[in-house]
Amino acid sequence: MIKIKNLDKSFGELHVLKNVSLEVQKGEIFGLIGKSGEGKSTLLRCINLLEKRDGGTITLNGQAADFKRSREVREYRKGIGMIFQHFSLLERQNVYKNIAAPMECWGYSKQEIDEKVRELVKIVGIEDKLYEKPRNLSGGQRQRVAIARALSMDPQVLLSDEATSALDPQTTQSILQLLRDINERLGITILLVTHEMEVIRSICHRVAIMEHGEVADCGKVSEIFLNQPGSLKRLLGETAE
Ligand code: ADP
Ligand code: MG
Repeated sequence: MIKIKNLDKSFGELHVLKNVSLEVQKGEIFGLIGKSGEGKSTLLRCINLLEKRDGGTITLNGQAADFKRSREVREYRKGIGMIFQHFSLLERQNVYKNIAAPMECWGYSKQEIDEKVRELVKIVGIEDKLYEKPRNLSGGQRQRVAIARALSMDPQVLLSDEATSALDPQTTQSILQLLRDINERLGITILLVTHEMEVIRSICHRVAIMEHGEVADCGKVSEIFLNQPGSLKRLLGETAE
């Protein structure tokens, strides 16, 4: 579903991504773990074309992400939902408006938007919060709004950048459960970035470990976590907070 080959990215002198290659299969939850500053967010931003790569190729569902026109870039981005650590909600708008915003940008009809918003709040479990402002919601509820918004354009892929890092352990588990449901019920492929081992262990099928801007290791979560305690211990030590 997502094929990244020899991705290279520098910010001035800082070589952030070095020859990174990854393949995320359709329907899987793929984890990307590494300590802070390893380039995980930059990688997601490159996939979403929010950041321009210096080299390498990115392919989404067979389509190379090389576009000349901004219209093509917008169409490509439509296929990708994204959620963040700090939710990025429109604070002055209510839940309904937050979820509807992308559809309004794309010129959907009022009726289409209304049906979709009501379907999405059910999926993420916040039917009773439709007309609340984000400030009246808990962290977990805010992330549910963000997830609903990310699903509004029926993406093939959901990119999650530390989406549970601002949440307490119990809320983290409920959001991970929701992501698992979305993956299983809607068939959406998820690429999930985190610095927390427990998140990977909870829901990911496969995992890649980023170290010094490279993919240090990649494989099934069960194999990486059980068979290679050495490299993991090192990583754990480095990512422990
Ligand atoms: P991670 O998400 O793994 O914590 P990031 O991708 O956010 O890492 O950042 C990787 C490195 O790139 C960091 O050293 C960060 O300071 C740097 N960086 C990220 N974005 C920019 C930017 N727009 N300009 C300059 N440096 C950046
Ligand atoms: Mg980051």
